[in-house]
Amino acid sequence: MPLYEKYIRRVEPYVPGEQPNFPDMIKLNTNENPYPPSPEVQKAIDSCSLSSLRLYPDPTSHKLNKAIANRYGLKESQVFTGVGSDDVIAMCFLTFFNSDKPLLFPDITYAFYPVWAEMLRIPYTLIPLNDDFEIVPEDYCRENGGIIFPNPNAPTGALLPLECIESIIKSNPDSIIMVDEAYIDFGGQSAVSLIEKYDNLIVVQTFSKSRALAGMRIGYAMGNEKLIKALNDVKYSFNSYTMNRQVIEAGAAAVRDEEYFQSIVNKIISTRERAKKEFTALGFKFKDSMSNFLFVTHPEWKAKDLFEALKEKHIFVRYLRGKRTDNYLRITIGTDEEMDTLFEFLRNYKG
Ligand SMILES: *Cc1c(COP(=O)(O)O)cnc(C)c1O
Repeated sequence: MPLYEKYIRRVEPYVPGEQPNFPDMIKLNTNENPYPPSPEVQKAIDSCSLSSLRLYPDPTSHKLNKAIANRYGLKESQVFTGVGSDDVIAMCFLTFFNSDKPLLFPDITYAFYPVWAEMLRIPYTLIPLNDDFEIVPEDYCRENGGIIFPNPNAPTGALLPLECIESIIKSNPDSIIMVDEAYIDFGGQSAVSLIEKYDNLIVVQTFSKSRALAGMRIGYAMGNEKLIKALNDVKYSFNSYTMNRQVIEAGAAAVRDEEYFQSIVNKIISTRERAKKEFTALGFKFKDSMSNFLFVTHPEWKAKDLFEALKEKHIFVRYLRGKRTDNYLRITIGTDEEMDTLFEFLRNYKG
């Protein structure tokens, strides 16, 4: 074995959800929005001339950051944007989690967290969810070098009330607490309101789910100016021009169209509430979800078999193995028509 082999960084990569492409497919496997983005996004993309693309974009992505800051009542200096929240969270890991003490996150959670921790050699400890798949705030009162969890959690969909988040932040004044709010717009209360009160809080959100722009890749972190400055310093030391011209225009246009945003989010919430009734009637068990997906199990059917049977009909859902979640499927809320096709299939499924 040549010596250089020893110096290659070896990582066990994160495996993203399958991206099949069939004209007739019903895609409920990666929590995308079933509706198109705001029509304002098209206009914004069209406003970028071909010749403008020869010039670098604004490295501060001022227009986008300003629009996000306005939406959340923050200063622009409290907002950081990146290429999807995956990019933003990876930058946060690199910037904030440099302690010898372990980073804490739940045992059942976004599968990317352990991958970033491993890649960046950040020690970490998994904190088990309780038997009801809930985060127990008291479990996070222990020595740590930082804390991250999604709210609502993924893939369970369970929402942690804001008081519980605040109690975790309060009991950890010496750590940075990151709340990954990829699904907060589907009925939860954002921790953004706590930013003024706690300097050690970072809230991350994304345009990929509630704003229907997964293909555009926009994520953002919000927190106190000092933390955001540190994050920017790391970003500029890595890649100054992460947000391209079209993304900056499109993202700003999407955030400004509040009315459209509310309308698609409300449609998804009402389809989700109907889906809860349908799944219950079909004998499925699941914890209440405040996200755009349900994490379901059936007492008589094997999740893996059902996953395969659905796939054959080009209905894609997510099967995520794992010790405690082996018989579960994560099913994204699609349009009413898509969900009806799914329920029709399930009513005739024999197991
Ligand atoms: C989808 C998701 C993300 C990442 O989304 P991006 O498309 O990279 O913005 C981050 N965290 C959780 C929990 C998610 O489900």
